[in-house]
Amino acid sequence: MPASENNTTSAFPVTRLKGVGPKAAERLEKLGIHTAQDILFHLPIRYQDRTSVINIGTVRPGMQVVVEGEVDHSEIRFGRRRALLVHISDGTGSLILRFFHFSAAQKNNLAKGKQIRCFGEVRRGQNRYEMIHPEYQLDIERDGELDEESLTPIYPTTEGMHQLTWRSLTDQCLQLLEEGQLGLQELLPENIASEYSTLARALTLLHRPPTDIDFALLTEGKHKIQQRLALEELTAHQVSLRQMRYQHRQHEAPPLKSDRKLQSAFLKQLPFNLTGAQQNTVEVISKDLLNDHPMMRLVQGDVGSGKTVVAALAALQAISAGYQVALMAPTELLSEQHRNNFQIWFGTLGIEVAWLTGKLKGKPRRQQLERIAANQVQMIVGTHALFQDEVIYASLGLVIIDEQHRFGVHQRLALKDKGNAVVPHQLVMTATPIPRTLAMTAFADLDVSVIDELPPGRTPVKTVLISDERREQVMQRVQQACKSGRQAYWVCTLIEESESLQCQAAEDTANLLAEQLQELRIGLVHGRLSSSDKERVMQHFKTGELDLLVATTVIEVGVDVPNASLMIIENPERLGLSQLHQLRGRVGRGSVESHCLLMYHAPLSQNGQQRLSVMRETTDGFVIAQKDLELRGPGEVLGTRQTGEMQLKIADLMRDQLLLPRAQEVAETLISEYPHHTDLLVRRWLGNKTRYANV
Ligand code: ADP
Ligand code: MG
Repeated sequence: MPASENNTTSAFPVTRLKGVGPKAAERLEKLGIHTAQDILFHLPIRYQDRTSVINIGTVRPGMQVVVEGEVDHSEIRFGRRRALLVHISDGTGSLILRFFHFSAAQKNNLAKGKQIRCFGEVRRGQNRYEMIHPEYQLDIERDGELDEESLTPIYPTTEGMHQLTWRSLTDQCLQLLEEGQLGLQELLPENIASEYSTLARALTLLHRPPTDIDFALLTEGKHKIQQRLALEELTAHQVSLRQMRYQHRQHEAPPLKSDRKLQSAFLKQLPFNLTGAQQNTVEVISKDLLNDHPMMRLVQGDVGSGKTVVAALAALQAISAGYQVALMAPTELLSEQHRNNFQIWFGTLGIEVAWLTGKLKGKPRRQQLERIAANQVQMIVGTHALFQDEVIYASLGLVIIDEQHRFGVHQRLALKDKGNAVVPHQLVMTATPIPRTLAMTAFADLDVSVIDELPPGRTPVKTVLISDERREQVMQRVQQACKSGRQAYWVCTLIEESESLQCQAAEDTANLLAEQLQELRIGLVHGRLSSSDKERVMQHFKTGELDLLVATTVIEVGVDVPNASLMIIENPERLGLSQLHQLRGRVGRGSVESHCLLMYHAPLSQNGQQRLSVMRETTDGFVIAQKDLELRGPGEVLGTRQTGEMQLKIADLMRDQLLLPRAQEVAETLISEYPHHTDLLVRRWLGNKTRYANV
């Protein structure tokens, strides 16, 4: 697990440690541990307090404690599961030890009158507290004295590596560290050591916390010595991301001069004026594109803030400078909608728009690829298929990625090879407003712009929570809304992984609704429909030939039908807040007041209740994202790919948020004042495998 320090001059191979033969060395190797230094970075996941004996009368369920007592009696119970029960007491209270696996000898040993010391977790039993399979010692002196001097560390481990082995290994390594034999370098600036702790002290205390350490802080991971290491780790990531970003900017990109005439022709045909926020973003991007090194810009803008137009203006600049533009969307449906928009916008300007997705096969596909390679199309819209090896661009100047949270750093960087001799500029757009602290970490390779203003005339969506026991009432409501000329969405959600189940549920719901609401014209879209069928249904909904659209979460992004002002979301408790926010963003696009009914399945968990209330209380995507982060953690919010890529060992993005700005500062100081430390630091925490080698 920890990064290897074996490239430093004083590498101390694990095989030189006592008790490490070829077998153990192999096991350690699997954990990425090669040296004694590595072992020091293999930190305990938790601690036990075995330093003092607790009175049985004071123990409570959940506590992990050492108790001492006398065996009162023991018995074998034949219940659902045969068990040996040993009753012990110490004068302050009594406790049962329960063993499901035991030998005859064990049973005989645990006889009445024996003095026993045991360690285990206390649980609530039928009439009395219990310990299940405690560790125990017999025939002890009951003097309440224990020889443990520090809290007991529990290490993350692997098959065949016992906790005692880890303790012996770390004992040896701490000894070597103290003797100065490991050459473990202090890589952070000196003031960090005095403010937090030196590295050596932090490691020593974390492996062997003294009994007087603040156990609560330690357990929460908030102790100063833990923060020292978390800060170092976050700094290592910052340094690595900055190096990557710096290297990326060394590449050559085509400077894209803008064509004011074309731009104003485009703006003139829009049925609206750009908002101030849109204008600002367009200007920043326009400047970036003039540079001869690649732009790497993230545009964050809430659902409906009008990111597509901003993308179109960037595209226009590239195209008028003689380059091609690739626009990638996360789903077929959304890519289709983008294609339609761009065809309308660019058609009148004489710009060819092509569409490329995985579903395009055979001859039409070959033709499309030929046109792209021959520079016959300038604007190419599609899905991931845009970046397959077989797609060769004649002159790719700009790559636009919509909804980038599904797209990782590495994928982003791989796009550079799609340019011809030059590296294309990159614009990534997301409607998931990522809290600032997180954005700084996960996207440190990008510059960030925010579109913090919605187009005028939007009325915020009113959201209510309603139990699915009141489905009848909800259907009535849909009926009324549709009869008065409005349109509605009915969104069916199921567990994300099972697309086919989700489609089935949507089909069933559509049938049920068709039966119950016979006057309504009902359509259905889900992921298993062909894209032409999907397109047809969507088109009918858009033109008002359908009143109600039953859908799976495929409509999450993009879909734009201003007359739709009511949305029912089934089982919203299964979705993340940001996803709900995206879905809800499909309504509230016209000038009538819109409503969103979150039809949950009762009873809601407390967390579920809390999360859905957030949806009721705010329509601000940033607030929602922040809450989502607090309630679900960064992995869920950013997508596992992004956080997985970070591979943090000690730091926790949520818990250690406040350290992030500090880590940025320290990273800057290191790069400018201690440049010879940066590579060592990155290697220490990220190892070689996660180095962003190919930038
Ligand atoms: P998102 O940021 O969610 O991708 P879109 O680009 O799909 O938003 O825009 C949402 C809707 O708002 C579209 O119908 C678009 O035409 C419209 N729109 C964009 N900018 C403006 C504006 N400045 N004024 C009015 N409507 C706008
Ligand atoms: Mg969009």
